[in-house]
Amino acid sequence: MTRYSVHRFRAAVLHMYLRITAFISLPLSVVYFVLDMTPDRGAFALLLGMFVLWLQWRTRHDGEESLRFVNWFVLAMLALMLYGTYFSNAQLRQEAWMMIFPITFAPIVAARERFVWAVAGAVSIVAAMMLRPEVPTAVSTMVLVIAYLALCFVTMMLVRHNEQNIERLAHLSTIDPLTKVYNRNYMKDILLGEINRCRRNGRPLTAIMLDIDHFKILNDSYGHMCGDSVLERVAEALKQAAQRAGDFVFRYGGEEFCILTSGLSADEARQFAEKLRVCVKGLDIENQRAPRGHLTASVGYWWVADAAEVTPGMLLLNADNALYRAKEAGRDTIVDFAEIERTDTGLVQLQPAAS
Ligand code: GH3
Ligand code: MG
Ligand code: MG
Repeated sequence: MTRYSVHRFRAAVLHMYLRITAFISLPLSVVYFVLDMTPDRGAFALLLGMFVLWLQWRTRHDGEESLRFVNWFVLAMLALMLYGTYFSNAQLRQEAWMMIFPITFAPIVAARERFVWAVAGAVSIVAAMMLRPEVPTAVSTMVLVIAYLALCFVTMMLVRHNEQNIERLAHLSTIDPLTKVYNRNYMKDILLGEINRCRRNGRPLTAIMLDIDHFKILNDSYGHMCGDSVLERVAEALKQAAQRAGDFVFRYGGEEFCILTSGLSADEARQFAEKLRVCVKGLDIENQRAPRGHLTASVGYWWVADAAEVTPGMLLLNADNALYRAKEAGRDTIVDFAEIERTDTGLVQLQPAAS
């Protein structure tokens, strides 16, 4: 989930609504009980307040997960609207009650559920009007329902517009515009999330660094436009090769990519790194002035059996150290960080880098 996401926005609005509802309904219940001497209204406000407090407690730790409870809150708001529509009087007319519902449900439920709630609200309004002691005329019921549907429509349009902007922002902040894989900025979020996930599940984690060999020569020989299109093709090939749930491809910078995957054994991690190297070679892109005459890539990776002690900086640094050794070893090859860890005491440093 990205820093900007529609789900995150919905969850934030839901939490805001829960706070506002508790803040209004609980003091209001006291007013109804003590000052207004209307215990039925007091009881309704108190029930609503308690229910909202319970929802707040249930969702206290969750962010987007709290959306599982969204329909409970929408139902409570529907009940509030119907209660108001039924008991409304000259001071607090039905129109006022009716406005509460669309504004409440539209920003917090999924797009496909909005129509269902809008229709359920309209049907309920008609039913509540019919049940009132002084039955309203057909015209006034119709006017109320039309006004309600118009408000639903406007609110839903505004919410949709807002969601489109959030989606746009999420795309801009996570996707590299040239290669369409995840960018380095997003990589920081994902690395931390995946480390924590693997720590919880006890799954191994593999960080792979892949760098195109002699890319500068390719740029110099065929031009930057050609270089750009090669980067697009390589990124696409890497995406095709890393398609399991939990696989991530990032553009680390220039012509260097980082691939993150979890749940592989040490052998499988090696095979996967090799598959990535081969898939770049398999593109069969000419790079005539390079020693091998065609495009190749070097790969360094670090397989971590237990992510408990790992930081994002360590993951990147160790995979990068392995990549450096792959370049030294003549390029177009893969190197496992564990190999150089065993044989080499002169590594740059294995301390966590600033992530
Ligand atoms: P090595 O095998 O050691 O990796 O050599 P190399 O030439 O690939 O590495 P070097 O880091 O010297 O050159 C990377 C080049 O990648 C230099 C830079 O102009 C080019 N480059 C970086 N980003 C882009 C890009 O977005 N588009 C294009 N066309 N070239 C890029
Ligand atoms: Mg390179
Ligand atoms: Mg490079």
